[in-house]
Amino acid sequence: MTRMKKQFAVIGLGRFGTSVALTLQQLGHDVLAIDADEERVQKLSDEVTHVVQADTTDENALNALGLRNFDAVVVAIGEDVQANVATTLLLKEMGIPFIIAKARNALHGKMLEKIGADRVVYPERDMGQRVAHSLVSSNVLDFIALSSELSLVEVTAPGIFVGRTLAEADMRVRYGVNVVAIKRYEDLIVPPQPDEVIHESDVLIVIGPTEGLQRLEVLG
Ligand code: ATP
Repeated sequence: MTRMKKQFAVIGLGRFGTSVALTLQQLGHDVLAIDADEERVQKLSDEVTHVVQADTTDENALNALGLRNFDAVVVAIGEDVQANVATTLLLKEMGIPFIIAKARNALHGKMLEKIGADRVVYPERDMGQRVAHSLVSSNVLDFIALSSELSLVEVTAPGIFVGRTLAEADMRVRYGVNVVAIKRYEDLIVPPQPDEVIHESDVLIVIGPTEGLQRLEVLG
């Protein structure tokens, strides 16, 4: 599969923004990393190809960056909510096709959605949930909340299901959840068929109501 090289910009080079920028670059895309703080810019200049110092709440400075044709812009400004919101608004007005903005809390997230951010992320909240779920149950390898009711979990196959087929395990009826994929060593079985037998070291990727998944998570 050949992937098109895309152009991304990341604004705000705290821990989150830096991680986004470095990962995008490692994935082979063009990244423009932007921060108002000259020191932060300097620090990253060895690692990211294009780093620019700019205050993105200044409309002229933002326009001068030429972001209009970028595929997506990530607003990773943290503490300064006003700068985060103002930057998102200005980017939206510029017609950036895809804007991802980091929110500090639910109200901030709502503002970003109203302004027109295409995606709002809550890294601290999401990571907190993932860590908590993996602590509560040693079966849980990962947890992602998809909405207030729906989630996706990655669990090691509960012992009571090992040796049974998916149809026999019948998690849909028992817990109201669906196994969307099975990780078996290097293989990913998607979608698994009802007659697929669950092996001991299988990892199940399951989607469904959080409440149903929680009942699944605590099975041994
Ligand atoms: P993290 O948790 O990711 O480390 P944080 O929540 O602590 O981040 P901050 O350090 O407050 O986030 O902000 C991230 C970066 O955003 C900082 O390096 C800061 O200089 C930059 N920043 C703040 N305001 C602006 C602005 N108006 N224009 C450009 N960059 C800005």
